[in-house]
Amino acid sequence: PTAIPADLVEGLNPPQRAAVEYRGDALLIIAGAGSGKTRVLTHRIASLIATHEAWPSQILAITFTNKAAAEMRERVGQLLGEAVEGMWISTFHSACVRILRREAEKFGYTQGFTIYDSADSKALIKRIVKALEAESMGVTVSTAQNRISGLKNELIDPDGFARQVDSTNPRDQLILEIYRQYQRQLERNKAFDFDDLIAQTVWLFRAYPEIAALYQRRFRHILVDEYQDTNHAQYALIRELTRGSEPQHVPADTRIRLAADGSIPPASLTVVGDSDQSIYAFRGADIRNITEFEKDFPGAETILLEQNYRSTQHILDAANAVIGNNFDRRPKNLWTAAGEGAKIVGYTGYSAHDEAQFVADEIHKLHDQGTNFNDMAVFYRTNAQTRALEEILIRSAVPYRLIGGTKFYERAEVKDIVAYLMSIANPADELSVRRIINSPKRGIGPSTETAISLFAQDNDITFREAMGRARELGLGPKVTNAILDLEHVLVEAEQSIDPARNTGAVPVSDMLAKLVERVGYIEKLRATNNPQDDARAENVEELINVAKEFDKQHPDGTLVDFLTEVALVAAADELDDESGAVSLMTLHTAKGLEYDAVWITGVEEELLPHKMSADEPGGLAEERRLFYVGITRARKILHLSLALTRTQYGESSVAMPSRFLQEIPEALIAWRQSPGIATSRGGERPRALNATGYGSGYGNGGGFGGRRAVGSRSYGDMPQGAGLKSEFKPTRGNRTFDNQITGAMKDNADLVLETGDRVKHTDFGEGTVRAVTGMKAKRIAEVEFDEVGRKKLLIKVAPLEKL
Ligand code: ATP
Ligand code: MG
Repeated sequence: PTAIPADLVEGLNPPQRAAVEYRGDALLIIAGAGSGKTRVLTHRIASLIATHEAWPSQILAITFTNKAAAEMRERVGQLLGEAVEGMWISTFHSACVRILRREAEKFGYTQGFTIYDSADSKALIKRIVKALEAESMGVTVSTAQNRISGLKNELIDPDGFARQVDSTNPRDQLILEIYRQYQRQLERNKAFDFDDLIAQTVWLFRAYPEIAALYQRRFRHILVDEYQDTNHAQYALIRELTRGSEPQHVPADTRIRLAADGSIPPASLTVVGDSDQSIYAFRGADIRNITEFEKDFPGAETILLEQNYRSTQHILDAANAVIGNNFDRRPKNLWTAAGEGAKIVGYTGYSAHDEAQFVADEIHKLHDQGTNFNDMAVFYRTNAQTRALEEILIRSAVPYRLIGGTKFYERAEVKDIVAYLMSIANPADELSVRRIINSPKRGIGPSTETAISLFAQDNDITFREAMGRARELGLGPKVTNAILDLEHVLVEAEQSIDPARNTGAVPVSDMLAKLVERVGYIEKLRATNNPQDDARAENVEELINVAKEFDKQHPDGTLVDFLTEVALVAAADELDDESGAVSLMTLHTAKGLEYDAVWITGVEEELLPHKMSADEPGGLAEERRLFYVGITRARKILHLSLALTRTQYGESSVAMPSRFLQEIPEALIAWRQSPGIATSRGGERPRALNATGYGSGYGNGGGFGGRRAVGSRSYGDMPQGAGLKSEFKPTRGNRTFDNQITGAMKDNADLVLETGDRVKHTDFGEGTVRAVTGMKAKRIAEVEFDEVGRKKLLIKVAPLEKL
């Protein structure tokens, strides 16, 4: 090995440098947010390659989301260039998919096995729960799904569960039976669910030591980011991979240092994490993986990092103050040299839309001052909050993209087309083919489906094989032909992409486009008068575009590769970035990322902390860590906002400011509030926090303190006087603000505006047009309103008229 090139350690502080230079077997880096943990990982990887201590293929780096993996790959690429190509830098799930695909045939699965997402697995469990009439015993579909997922995360298979289950507990007995049947069906369909991807890889390694040895030998350096969020199955996977293996012949050029007896020593393991950012306990993450690392890996070195390079002092002070309220933690000494920075901006809106308008206005303000949209992000606790945000961002002409929650792959039509592809890749997958057997409608009803299924069972063949023998089912000629035709289409599609059977094999996207045309999927959608069907047709076209893009990026990519990408991207987040748009995401998705300006919205009781956390032991502490994660994403400017009323599940109710706000020293936040709120106190912390008898914990004074139905009682510092409802009406207009926003969108596309024109807006009153930019439906007016100042508005939808 040669020395580490200077540029890989320059600029690192001494403990960071020690972490890059460490050459022992096990290293734990534990440090607060923004202290350079991920940066140290990337530099460490680069240094191992640059010194010729390892080949790129000997590196396995694991991160938590696809986005984080893509970012790490890019950073290592910047340090090393092309060498990054041969490395496995991926999430746990994608690494396991790769291993399982390679090895599938050795354990009787097909290489093209299907990956079921949570909705697929729910559909399967639902059938079983129904057949067993389990709901009458109090076992719902989601109970069963959660229990099974939990068991898999603990690496407990049905037999293992049978051994520990209480045989006098009928509900557990039922869960066991559901679990057994579910696993049997997955196996029959040659499918894995998400939890399986990890658990089955561990089981594969345990059952086939010779397969495990391949990977134990291959990966010499394993590095795991966000280690605090690993669950037991993920931990076990790492244990398997770092076991070392029996003596074996090793070619001279492998850069593997053999032990004296010729055996392969365990891979070196580096894990980095922050127990204060552990936010996945609900998915089985086990903080003990980090706290007991030194016990698990004797001789491990522990390095602490204390300097934060990300945020300003004000932001860091707020973060430290909040997290300091959690017990049972190692206190940290996080400091920054970045200077005080701007104060945190607090905002109290009177409704979710008002809060969203604040976000939109601030985004435009910062953008005008030179911050790129890329460098801004808006976070929320629950996906339901996006509706109001999106409406207002669209109206205010803020370019944005939703990360993680796009739901594109959850749309029925997209799932249909993916099910076609799954049936083609994996003919054993009954769930997928049954999904599309009558979609689009081809006259194959449920009784026909049952007939095929029974025939398959009786003859011990697959559902697809039964379809191919439809003539033996004794059905009418029309339906028989429909079944045979579908089977034929699927086989034809499979052959068209198979180079073994077809010398002119076509790319995945060509096959897909032809398939969609052949079954008339888009055509049938376009033929209806339902405008929603047009949107559906567009989604199918979009999926074909995704396939085209895939073919372009992976000229040798197979259908299975494409489906893998779809499954994993759909599950986690999107890859594309740098889109010149503000990012919207949940607080969970935000982990590991950083932005110049951050908005945390809905900082209210029952949202953050989320009301579900009240029932979970440790739930409140986990919510606090989530808030801590959110705060520490901000580099320069942090906004915390809330609304005094929020509509959820169609019901409008009063929201209370989050108790977490009170944990931030008052001097760090500059509070503002909506002009629509009729109180005389501007510029101070929303007062509900100080209401007596409140804020000392859950269950205080009979039930959960927090959101209450509007009008049911006046509370704390809510405006006094007439009923709450009328207090929250805006001063202008005679409908409520919410109604104006959510009401039918007005189409103003033809409104001609010029600079200097006087206009009137339903919410903002009168103003003067300062600029008009953009074209057609995307025309934007910048208006200086007399009372509320400058705003950017999408003319097409703004409730605007020319005076
Ligand atoms: P998190 O806990 O949020 O995942 P982290 O500990 O992984 O944070 P990084 O993302 O690696 O922190 O680093 C935070 C920011 O600080 C990044 O922009 C990184 O480039 C920068 N940074 C880290 N160390 C240094 C350093 N020694 N000099 C300059 N910048 C640094
Ligand atoms: Mg990190």
